[in-house]
Amino acid sequence: MVKLPEKNKYGFYEIRMESIGGMGANIAGKIIAEAGVFSLGLNAISFSSYGSEKRGTPVKSFIRFSETDDEIRVNSAVENPHMLVIFHENLKKTLAVLAGFKKGNTVILNTDKSPSEARDYLEIPSGKVVCVDAIRIASEEKTKLNVVMMGAISRVSGFLTPEVLIEAMKETFGKKYPKLMEGNIKGFKRGYEALKIQEFTDDGKYKEVAYEVLERDVGYDNQPMGGVILQIGNTAMKDLSTSREAKIPVFLPEKCIHCGLCESTCPDYCFVFEEEVVDGKQKVINKGINYQYCKGCMRCVSVCPVDAIVEGAERDYNVDDMTVTLTMDHRINPGVINE
Ligand code: SF4
Ligand code: SF4
Repeated sequence: MVKLPEKNKYGFYEIRMESIGGMGANIAGKIIAEAGVFSLGLNAISFSSYGSEKRGTPVKSFIRFSETDDEIRVNSAVENPHMLVIFHENLKKTLAVLAGFKKGNTVILNTDKSPSEARDYLEIPSGKVVCVDAIRIASEEKTKLNVVMMGAISRVSGFLTPEVLIEAMKETFGKKYPKLMEGNIKGFKRGYEALKIQEFTDDGKYKEVAYEVLERDVGYDNQPMGGVILQIGNTAMKDLSTSREAKIPVFLPEKCIHCGLCESTCPDYCFVFEEEVVDGKQKVINKGINYQYCKGCMRCVSVCPVDAIVEGAERDYNVDDMTVTLTMDHRINPGVINE
């Protein structure tokens, strides 16, 4: 049996993954916990909090390990993780992802930022900051982001060895999707290797944030009228940008033949078509995408017959500049409900 590198007063080593439905944090949690139990002789549990259980909504996934002498009888959320893993940096815009994080612990962030930039972005008081450009690695290896993040978790944990996690991955994915295993293993190994790591001491720049206060500050006696969620990423505000999994469709107008397939496929009516006179003829022209409504499902990319829409990493683009709206702007002003 391996020894855990750190334990809280109950004898647990705990991991919390902050993610978005569809990024695979839940399945990653199950694989990691199974590897701990079946290959490392540890006790482990893994479970997730899904919210509305919709692809694109925030998910918290928890893993709790103990050595065999300490039984795990707790099924509550991991509030003070030894390792906090953030699958999507934009989650910070709407959630207190760092709530409960204790000084000196470890954060892994999917980002192209440096550890120092990530520390300032997340306001981490102190500890080990690990950055991995998981979305880029996953795109290049044609695999899922979660396997890259598992590679990073393996290296940073020090006890979840690559061998046992790859074996557990094969158990889970290998039989059902054998053709995908090569890309999965490559993505995992690159996630293991391509880490930028820096330790920060407590210089007083940022403070710890209590888990309870931020998670429970709206209750039955002070919630907004009508139960409206006053954050982006909901239909009331008509802004789905936080639903995107760090990828966007990129429109290449020079290739477009204006067939309209993307428009009829898009579930959120993101495309803007306008009538124009071209060469003396009245035509309906695809002007581009309104990213305010785009949840990044990539259906438009798969249906376009001429590759006029391609997948891109959101961080490489300024979607505000790229957004096209109707000439007659019918949008509800973001931030104003029921004008
Ligand atoms: S499916 Fe492609 S070619 Fe057709 S209108 Fe959309 S972007 Fe243009
Ligand atoms: S990815 Fe394409 S199909 Fe999906 S919501 Fe965005 S524009 Fe529409």
